[in-house]
Amino acid sequence: MTTPITGHTGLLCLLGSPVEHSISPAMHNEACNALNLDYRYLAFDVCEDQMPSAVEGLKALGVRGWNITMPGKNIMCKLADELSAASEITGACNTIVNDHGKLTAYTTDGIGFMEAVKENGVNIIGENMTLLGAGGAACAILVQAALDGVRQIDVFNVRDPFFSRLEEIAQKLNERTACKVIVHDFEDPQQLKDAIANSRILVNGTSVGMAPKTEATLIPDPSFFHQNLFVFDVIYNPAKTRLLKDAEAAGCQTANGLFMLLYQGAASFELWTGQKMPVQLIKDKYFKQ
Ligand code: NAD
Repeated sequence: MTTPITGHTGLLCLLGSPVEHSISPAMHNEACNALNLDYRYLAFDVCEDQMPSAVEGLKALGVRGWNITMPGKNIMCKLADELSAASEITGACNTIVNDHGKLTAYTTDGIGFMEAVKENGVNIIGENMTLLGAGGAACAILVQAALDGVRQIDVFNVRDPFFSRLEEIAQKLNERTACKVIVHDFEDPQQLKDAIANSRILVNGTSVGMAPKTEATLIPDPSFFHQNLFVFDVIYNPAKTRLLKDAEAAGCQTANGLFMLLYQGAASFELWTGQKMPVQLIKDKYFKQ
């Protein structure tokens, strides 16, 4: 039974624009309800230049925490008092914890990715990774994988505006972690083939292959795949991208980004409430593969 809203009920929320299609309110309200936690989670459509005043309001109201989606992930870091290691390196965050007015920023997308990989029974600690992409999702994955102990990460991106930020992040990771991060562009397909040949995991962190352009893939040549390769796509719409279909046909184990989405939410939930999200319940209800 849903706990009644009283004078004690606390608020959690999502800030960004657009937010109306987000699964976060359903997921977090279900979890609070299952654990009898006296919170409600709402989504607020807030554009980037409204973020500072929104944050002042949330602080004044004593809101326990919030998620941030685009376009607020970078500006929110500037409004926080402290940054997690991953948020400090990427300059982005998707979660704020409000401890009596002191705001700490975290990025849980990479945590969600690492958890989703584990869930597939694959261990990538001490192994090599090939990562495609340098946007928000890819950088979160890059940083968390390096912090958690992946041995080497070869990152490929086109020379678009994301590329120079990728080089800066790679430099920080090479200075601060034991992981070796090598940045490439897509110009030389042999470099990509060699990196994949030496990798336990290939991750598509780009939007290439997402609906409606579902026939697009960054790995059109199936000879790039090998039997010991786990192929992970951050995309979950469609559930099986062309990349995943081609990789499966070549004998690879594969996974889409659905459980990454679940586990980034679970990590935020635990930061706010100190309790584990009942993930099996949430999976059964909202994350049917
Ligand atoms: P973004 O706009 O920040 O980054 C886009 C990335 O795609 C960049 O690296 C860009 O260079 C690359 N790219 C775009 N078009 C390309 C092309 N034609 N050729 C080569 N590279 C190209 O986007 P984002 O927020 O990082 O999201 C990327 C994807 O990840 C989206 O499909 C999004 O839905 C998904 N995503 C999934 C999760 C999850 O939890 N599973 C979380 C965040 C994002």
